[in-house]
Amino acid sequence: MRYMWLVALSCWGELFAQDTTRLRLLFVGDIMQHDAQIASAFNATTQRYEYAHTFQWVKPLVQAADLAIGNLEFTLAGKPYKGYPQFSGPDELAFELKNTGFDVLATANNHSADRYKKGIYRTIDLLDSAKIIHTGTFKDSLARANTYPLIIDKNGIRIALLNYTYGTNGIPVPQPAIVNPIDTVLIKHDIQRAKDRHPDAILVLLHFGDEYQRSPNRFQKRVANLCFREGAQLVIGSHPHVIQPIEFFPEKNQLVAWSLGNFISNQRPRYRNGGLMLWVDLDKIRTDSVTSVTRIANASYDLAYVHVNKRKKFHLLPVTHPQVDSLLRTDSLALKTYTEFASDSRQWLRQHNRHVNESTALWMYAVIRRRDTPAPANPAGCSFMWDDVAYPCESLYATRAEAEIVRSLIQQAEPDSNPVIQLVRAAIDRKTEHRLKTPDR
Ligand SMILES: [Zn+2]
Repeated sequence: MRYMWLVALSCWGELFAQDTTRLRLLFVGDIMQHDAQIASAFNATTQRYEYAHTFQWVKPLVQAADLAIGNLEFTLAGKPYKGYPQFSGPDELAFELKNTGFDVLATANNHSADRYKKGIYRTIDLLDSAKIIHTGTFKDSLARANTYPLIIDKNGIRIALLNYTYGTNGIPVPQPAIVNPIDTVLIKHDIQRAKDRHPDAILVLLHFGDEYQRSPNRFQKRVANLCFREGAQLVIGSHPHVIQPIEFFPEKNQLVAWSLGNFISNQRPRYRNGGLMLWVDLDKIRTDSVTSVTRIANASYDLAYVHVNKRKKFHLLPVTHPQVDSLLRTDSLALKTYTEFASDSRQWLRQHNRHVNESTALWMYAVIRRRDTPAPANPAGCSFMWDDVAYPCESLYATRAEAEIVRSLIQQAEPDSNPVIQLVRAAIDRKTEHRLKTPDR
């Protein structure tokens, strides 16, 4: 996937400054481990916990990000594995998150101290051994001083990442461990320390808000505003277990996602059985040999629904995935709750988001990934390939801007002889035409 953006950049070379680099970030919400998930993942034959099937549908999306970042809302404290209220999840899940494509996990949340000092320490050690970058909790103040704020250099873009939680469910954080608290003096101090390292962007991941409320509360607004005032560009929230809106202010180069909802959990009630995958592209534009400016170029979201099938297996399904309908066809109740989640979320976000629309990442990815596959079986109609299956182009959709990007990408990159590209190009032309007549969502 990475090369896609290299090609894209060559297309945009004429539009933008010659030397522009892009960092595509993906944020997901609460990664949880309830008892039902633990029981479901256990394979009695191998005596191991298996999660590959859970993430198989979102994996191509996660891997399309340059940096995929989530909130680890359970401890890796070892056996006995247990869900709510004091979580300790299987080690295998950490390795599967890495395998799925997650690069960074935030560990400061209200469950960080669930298994006391051992839980905090072992979570840190296990993430280290899974080679997942993490921040938010620390073994002691020296470890914090040495590793915080977290600085990540990727694609020539340097980001500072901070993470705080409103609390730890009344469990005192055991000495000398640290779970970063939302403390305005501390946050100010840390953002200043981040600025001293001259990052291109500052990201703050905040675990806050009212559970099951679909709008941010006053506390969330106050803390986010503080972060922006001090110099952050991105504030990403988690904890309410439901989706709250995303607001992008291009003129200020700031974006806040109030709550991404659940990424994976066994919370089944309405609004809680899915969450957001939020895409944010950062563009670093070099104006001359010494100066550069980094902007939030665009932001969009995918919805992901947590499907528990009749065998009680958990499958995380991107709502735009062309195969979802057929997966759910034999399960009318699942199809109903899935449809409800998709329409509830879309309606809410259309109404309350600011400059953030649903993504076209999935089909862009399908186009690029499958660009050298043979023509689909029905060349009379239009279809595109995804995992060796042809899907009708009607399942594609795009904002005008995104359709233009893909169009230019394909024109630049592909010879006319590739029939799949021709078909997709035709579909995009149709979509673009349609979009020209209707305003962007
Ligand atoms: Zn929480």
